[in-house]
Amino acid sequence: MSLSFLSDQCDLKKRALVRVDLNIPFKDGQILDDTRLKKIKETVDFLQKKNAKILLLSHFGRPKGQYKEENSLKFLIDPLEKLFQQKVIFLPRLVTNECLPCIEICEMIEQLSDGSIALFENTRFYPQEEKNDPLFAKAIATYGEIYVNDAFSASHRAHATTDKITDFLPSYVGFALRQEIENLERFLENPEKPTIAIVGGAKISTKIPLFEKITEKIDNLVIGGGMANSFLAMQGVEMGRSLYEAEAFPLIERILKKAQERNCNLILPVDVVVAERFEKNSPFQICAFDEIPKDGMILDIGPLSIKNIEKAISQCKTLLWNGPLGAFEIEPFDQATCQVGKYIAKSVQDNNLLAIAGGGDTIAAIKKAKIFEKLSYVSTGGGAFLEWLEGKILPGVAALRY
Ligand code: AMP
Repeated sequence: MSLSFLSDQCDLKKRALVRVDLNIPFKDGQILDDTRLKKIKETVDFLQKKNAKILLLSHFGRPKGQYKEENSLKFLIDPLEKLFQQKVIFLPRLVTNECLPCIEICEMIEQLSDGSIALFENTRFYPQEEKNDPLFAKAIATYGEIYVNDAFSASHRAHATTDKITDFLPSYVGFALRQEIENLERFLENPEKPTIAIVGGAKISTKIPLFEKITEKIDNLVIGGGMANSFLAMQGVEMGRSLYEAEAFPLIERILKKAQERNCNLILPVDVVVAERFEKNSPFQICAFDEIPKDGMILDIGPLSIKNIEKAISQCKTLLWNGPLGAFEIEPFDQATCQVGKYIAKSVQDNNLLAIAGGGDTIAAIKKAKIFEKLSYVSTGGGAFLEWLEGKILPGVAALRY
């Protein structure tokens, strides 16, 4: 795949439309996690050094094609000004009702000096965005002279500002997007062996395509979290009130068969943490599979299971992690996730393990375990991260090919 990366050789003293993902967790006037905000810095700084005028484009939330005050991106002007230590201009519209460029926006852009930064209003206030509408993309393209995609986490959607816009402008891969692609390729193409994937989370049904793909590639597959319950239930374990998906049994059988055919060693829990209530500090017990009480709920994997996982990690050179191993938001059911997370971080430091992690809940878990900076790479991709690992070509990345 040939992609145009930003480099010193490019002539970038231009109006640059930069698609970023500023869809950050925000509640009661507070930014809950600024990881995605910080990720845009490298590309913006580089473009500034090249005297570009930077016009940021992003979606925020799910306003479903109409203006909604609570989804306006205006609230980000202040944090962006702090991040870049300079004034950031807000561009309140993208197109006219006739889907044409707005004259007043053209005038505002005209007045920007080299190195200025401006932020457009939420792209999803326009229904044409999610329809990948060519007229809408063309109208937005007239504001810029080049386009840069730096929004890996939005690139699994074929939307006007991630896909169609590339028909109208010379298009580049930004630094954050480049890092995502290169790190995921490090896992998928010729990883140093043996390899291990740790997959957790609530539901198995959402991760079937991932299992189908990665059992082809990896030597060891750890399954934890609520999804491991479905494997246990299929084996006839009395589950009490634990979460599991009986309808996923045929899919699980397929995964088991594929793992066996492909010599992929499956590591399932051997003990579990059970509580009566899904509440902070609720009393709990560690159970073998024949000890799960009828009114109990499996909320984490147990200490023997953790030891097994650590042993497997210690024998591997490359690791991929997606999904928590238990209901990590509520203590003490964060034990396995945090303990295994810390073990991964230590293995990166002591044994040169290449550890790549990603997914919304996984990032929250990694932050809880205080290991964010200690892993080899943490993807902010979420859905895009999973689709890339499933072997899909993301429309936003495919559109950048030449
Ligand atoms: P996912 O979005 O599929 O990655 O799932 C993440 C969610 O799975 C988190 O909110 C966890 O609390 C939840 N989870 C993990 N293990 C369990 C479990 N044993 N029982 C219930 N929820 C769980």
